Formats: sequence, C-alpha cells, structure tokens
Amino acid sequence: MGEILLKGVTKRFGDVEVIPPIDLAINDGEFVVFVGPSGCGKSTLLRLIAGLEDVSGGVVEIDGKDATATAPADRGLAMVFQSYALYPHMSVKKNIAFPLKMAKLPAAEIEAKVQAAAKVLNLTAYLDRKPGQLSGGQRQRVAIGRAIVRNPQAFLFDEPLSNLDAALRVNMRLEISELHHSLKTTMIYVTHDQVEAMTMADKIVVLQAGRIEQVGSPLELYRTPRNRFVAGFIGSPK
Ligand code: ADP
Ligand code: MG
Repeated sequence: MGEILLKGVTKRFGDVEVIPPIDLAINDGEFVVFVGPSGCGKSTLLRLIAGLEDVSGGVVEIDGKDATATAPADRGLAMVFQSYALYPHMSVKKNIAFPLKMAKLPAAEIEAKVQAAAKVLNLTAYLDRKPGQLSGGQRQRVAIGRAIVRNPQAFLFDEPLSNLDAALRVNMRLEISELHHSLKTTMIYVTHDQVEAMTMADKIVVLQAGRIEQVGSPLELYRTPRNRFVAGFIGSPK
C-alpha cells in the first residue's frame, strides 16, 4: 500500500515537453521530497500522480495498478494545498468534513473522523472558528486535516508552507515530520526550499527542467552530488 511507480511518464503542454520520460519508484511509507527551482516541473509531476493532469505518455502505477485508468478521486491520494485553499465561510469543522460530505458518509462517521483528525492536529478547541480567525499555522493544519480524514494511501503536498513566515515554517516542518512518523503513510512533498528538503526527506528527487538530476537520501546527495547543479542546490562543496 502507498507504493507509487512512474514508468516513462512524460508531459507535454502543446508542443512543449515539460517532463521528458521519467522513471521513479516511491516506496510505501517513504517521505519523498521533490526539490528544484521554480518552473522545473515539480507541481506538474505531483499533478500527474494525483491525476489532476493526464500523462502524455507512460504509466503511473499505484500499488501495482495502472492509475492512469483511475479517476483522481479513486486513486487513494490526498493533495494538501497551501492554506488559502480553505473555504473562508465554513467553520474549521465543516472544512475538514467537506471531502467526507462529498463522499456522502453517514453523519456519525464524519463526526468521529473529524474529531480524530482534530485531536492529532491540536485543533479540537478551534473547530467552530472560521479560517479567518486562525493563525497561519492553524490554517495549514486544517488543510492537512482535510486530507487526513480520507485515510489516503499517500499525501501529496505542494509547497504547503510557502506563504507562512519563517518561524512558523520551521514549526510546521516539524509537525509534518511528526505526522509522518505517527501515520507512517507515504508522503510526497514539493518544495523549492533546500532546507525543507534536507531536513524532512527520506529520499530527495532533484529536478531541473523536468529532468531528474539525482535521487538519494539527504546524506547521499550531500556527500556525493552527481553534478554541479545538485551540489549547488543542496549546498555541498563539490
Ligand atoms: P514548478 O512547480 O516546479 O514551479 P510547474 O510544474 O508549475 O513548475 O511548471 C513546469 C513548466 O510547465 C513551466 O515551464 C510551466 O510554465 C509549464 N506549465 C505548467 N502548467 C502548464 C499549463 N497548464 N499549460 C502550459 N504550461 C504549463
Ligand atoms: Mg509549483
């Protein structure tokens, strides 16, 4: 469960190939970070995995099944966006419950799942507030709560902390890492921030212009960067 394979996955927008054929294996329970400069294709790759974009070629496999034949909602993945993707007019509770309402779960089950997620995320006292009455970090936790209640096989994060201030980013980084330790669910985390990549990842995928430059643990990339780009990006001395 939670194993994701990319086999020769490509993406073109019109005539422009933004992702040349990519092969990548993400193991169950791994915390994988896609890192690279703005425009290198991180979000596109995540959206291809989530099914929010169709591949132009190749196959995305989730737990051994061809996901390209599966609707996004049935892939068992939960995408976490930046906190501004919350519904401002709905309470925290309703925001977290939203995907379960859409799935038409019984009210008692929704209540139980929302309460459990709120507990994990320290949001129990804030369930009746609106997003506008929360701090940036709390809002980001609500966005994560909306993903947790769906019990996904994998969480996909697209630069979730980029509109938080520096101190809060450090906090949330630790919270997301702790969440990974307690849930042990596969997480794919997109960032252009080297420090986030180095401190959070089991495995880092360094991207440049849609290409994978190197895949490895933070220590491997630091000690043996394959080229100047990786070395420069990771900040090691090669
Ligand atoms: P990143 O998330 O790393 O900043 P993106 O995946 O958003 O990069 O973009 C990768 C490349 O694909 C960029 O050159 C971008 O302009 C292009 N791109 C992304 N989405 C579209 C789209 N819907 N139509 C055309 N080009 C796109
Ligand atoms: Mg992006």
